Amino acid sequence: MNKKVRVRFAPSPTGPLHIGGLRTALFNYLFAKKHGGDFLLRIEDTDQVRYVEGAEAYIMEALSWTGITYDEGVGKGGNHAPYRQSERKNIYSKYIQELLERGEAYYAFDSAEELDAQRKAYEERGETFIYNWHNRQNLTNAFSLSSDEVQQRLQRGDAYVVRFKMPQETLILHDLIRGEVTVDTKLLDDKVLFKSDGMPTYHLANIVDDHLMEITHVIRGEEWLPSMALHVLMYRAFGWEAPEFAHLPLILKPAGMGNGKLSKRDGDKMGFPVFPLEWEDPITKNISKGYREGGYLPEALVNFLALLGWNPGLDREIFSVEELIELFDLEKVNKAGAHFDIEKIKWFNHQYLQKVPLPTLVADFSSVLTQKAITISQDKVTQIVALVRERATFVTDLWELSHFFFEAPKEYEAKALKKQWKEHSSSILSQLIEVIKGLTEFTPVIIEEHIKDFITKNNLGLGQVMPLIRLALVGEMKGPDVFSIIAILAKEETIYRLQNLLQYPKE
Ligand code: GLU
Repeated sequence: MNKKVRVRFAPSPTGPLHIGGLRTALFNYLFAKKHGGDFLLRIEDTDQVRYVEGAEAYIMEALSWTGITYDEGVGKGGNHAPYRQSERKNIYSKYIQELLERGEAYYAFDSAEELDAQRKAYEERGETFIYNWHNRQNLTNAFSLSSDEVQQRLQRGDAYVVRFKMPQETLILHDLIRGEVTVDTKLLDDKVLFKSDGMPTYHLANIVDDHLMEITHVIRGEEWLPSMALHVLMYRAFGWEAPEFAHLPLILKPAGMGNGKLSKRDGDKMGFPVFPLEWEDPITKNISKGYREGGYLPEALVNFLALLGWNPGLDREIFSVEELIELFDLEKVNKAGAHFDIEKIKWFNHQYLQKVPLPTLVADFSSVLTQKAITISQDKVTQIVALVRERATFVTDLWELSHFFFEAPKEYEAKALKKQWKEHSSSILSQLIEVIKGLTEFTPVIIEEHIKDFITKNNLGLGQVMPLIRLALVGEMKGPDVFSIIAILAKEETIYRLQNLLQYPKE
């Protein structure tokens, strides 16, 4: 490989970017960076009917949130600008002309009704209508009409399309992930490449732009594998060198839900997002959930997506973007689809949340406390966050994990109380209060020392004492280390809570 690697992400702005699309962008990015190449963002908006307001901005924001940055493209510029196909309209007619002149493409004038009638007639015979070598001379096009008539129709301004003249051969394609793929082109149709409204279809614009933008590798979703033969043949028809192709495996529904492609409906049904960012449909105003708004960290999403269909073959799963770049190998991407797993991405989020610098988490959590009108010293919040973060998957879990620091229990979990409250509990609690009162230093280690000392001296078991303290301080049998809780609550509050449990009606 001596040419500089250049790859592109080429989404169509037809709605919010699905996480499958985001993974395609990520794999392109990793491949480009691994080979010291360029990564481009090209917006394929030739299909005005499917154009959705806001989708392009959404795509750019999603890439920026996940740190999948591009070197050239919409919003950034570059040597091959413009990067939005609707702004490249005038480029494509020249190229379709070239294919027409080379006899690789032809004009066709069949109306939508005529084509429908053909389709129906084939269906009635139990066959599928394919517009290609076997019937093109019987349809309304440059094969059945004289060249004069074709000219007349064009001059008259009749609606037309330009179709690719699909050859009849056995084509051997090479895909970097799938290896050799053999295609009988006799079964393929003469795809429409250009329409009389002056707009190219996806196929023409995509090939012309990849060529002009000097793309060396086309890395895209498996749904485009059926188009690969046409694309390779189009490069040949133009006399251009084709890029290499790699078709990424599908992202499938969660295991147990079948082998279909992961859809927005699966997400809705099971309550997880399939989009990186929240999206409000501009027409229906329906809101679709986003990972960002769901409290996921972009690093966690990126790490998770990188391992969806690819595996560096090491016995760990947490990788920084730099490591992913270093390890990435297109040829190790799986052929088989990868089942989506929401528990796995939560696991990644948990792991990455542990890496967030403590002051950042403290700042996030402080704003939650402010909203709840709780005032507490920065030092205390820091101690609390440091203590409970290991159990948190999301920043929003911090409140649930630590609310008892800010509000003393008003009642106690009934089952736990019943189980823990025994004959000696009253006297144990009263004595404990005295132990706590006597403490002059208030660190978890000192507190532990004194409480354990009290337990041994009185011939008690840990099980008679520790659950009682936890119940008094937390209200239930949950929470972090009891000695740490005592240290944070401090003397007065600890004593207050122990007394509360002591006085609480037990039946
Ligand atoms: N515009 C196509 C899409 O939306 C791009 C396919 C390709 O990468 O060639 O997926």
